[in-house]
Formats: sequence, C-alpha cells, structure tokens
Amino acid sequence: ARLAQATARTESALQDLQRTNEKLRHLAATDPLTGAANRRQFIESVEAEIGRAQHGGASFSLLALDIDRFKAINDAYGHQAGDDVLREFVQKCLDAIRPYDGVARVGGEEFMVLLPQAGLDTALAIGERIRTTIAGSTFEAGSGRRGEVTVSVGASQFGRDGKTIDTILRAADERLYSAKHLGRNRVVVA
Ligand code: GH3
Ligand code: MG
Ligand code: MG
Repeated sequence: ARLAQATARTESALQDLQRTNEKLRHLAATDPLTGAANRRQFIESVEAEIGRAQHGGASFSLLALDIDRFKAINDAYGHQAGDDVLREFVQKCLDAIRPYDGVARVGGEEFMVLLPQAGLDTALAIGERIRTTIAGSTFEAGSGRRGEVTVSVGASQFGRDGKTIDTILRAADERLYSAKHLGRNRVVVA
C-alpha cells in the first residue's frame, strides 16, 4: 500500500512538472501584451515552414506590418490607449487571417504574419483584408473618444523572393518601407 501511495505521489508530481513545462513553453513563445507569438516563436515557425517547402511542400508567404504614425497615437491618447490599440490590432488580424496562419509581434508596433500554402496573390488578399479592417474601424481612445489607425504592409513569398529566412524577411521589410514612402495605409507585394 505504501508503494502504491509513493507511486501515485510521483505520478502526480510528474504531471505538475509537465503542466509547468507547458506553461513555460507558452510564456517563452508569447508576447505578454497582445498574446501574439513573439519574434523567437515566429522565426522557429518560419524555419519549420522552410523545411516543409524544401521537402516538396507548398510555398508560403510572409506579411510585414507596421502601424502608421503610432507615436502620434501615444502622444494624442496616452501610452495606455496605445497598448489597447496593439491588443485590438492583434485581435483584428486574427479575425482577418486563416486558422493556420500565425500573427507575431516582432517589435513595438511591428508584426509579421506567416501564411502557409499561400502565394503572393493570397498574401495580397489577406494583407488587404487586414488593412481595410484596421482602416475601417475605430479604437477606444479613453474618455469615450474613438480614434483612427492605419497599417502599412509588405509581403514576400518563399522561393520567389529568396530561399533563406534572411532574404524573405528582407524582401517583406523593403516592401513595407516602400508602402510607408508611398503614403502609408497600403499593401506592397512587389
Ligand atoms: P511610421 O508610420 O513611420 O511607422 O511612424 P511611427 O510613429 O509608427 O514609427 P516610430 O518608429 O517613430 O514610432 C513607433 C512608436 O511605437 C514609438 C513607441 O513609443 C511606440 N511603441 C513601441 N512599443 C510600444 C508599446 O508596447 N506600447 C505603446 N503604447 N507604444 C509603443
Ligand atoms: Mg515601426
Ligand atoms: Mg509605425
């Protein structure tokens, strides 16, 4: 009976440990403010996707997103409202993408979306869906005020724009930069 008791205790301790490990794994992969994946998790997912594509899998695309004039939002409405915008932004992105696409926060107001099995045409369609959703809605700006926000987007496709993580990230970033220079609130895919 004592042996059975000791075994039960060990098993219960092991389960606790596994649950704790699972929580730690989640924390290590997640941005605490928005609940989106963090940069490290995003890089891991892209590397996994590159592996799949190299072994006969379908190509995939990336979106690089940067909220427009975000500094002005903080200045006008306060940092707290800015944080709320970031949270709402992620929720709206999740609503606009497919269940197997992933949103990651890779910088302060910079995000990336991984689009498995998507070419640039699909990337453009999803990028436009995100852009119009953001531009077409307002956010809670405190004291009952509503504010407006827009986002600029650059897209790239594995294979077409390179075969390493660096080249496809750079291509998406360069197009995001073009989107900013062309006047913001737009999607650039080539
Ligand atoms: P652009 O259209 O060129 O992207 O202009 P921008 O103002 O968005 O770009 P800039 O890089 O000048 O400013 C980014 C701002 O994002 C500055 C910083 O205070 C703000 N920011 C970064 N991280 C956070 C955060 O976690 N919360 C809040 N509220 N603001 C943040
Ligand atoms: Mg930025
Ligand atoms: Mg910005």
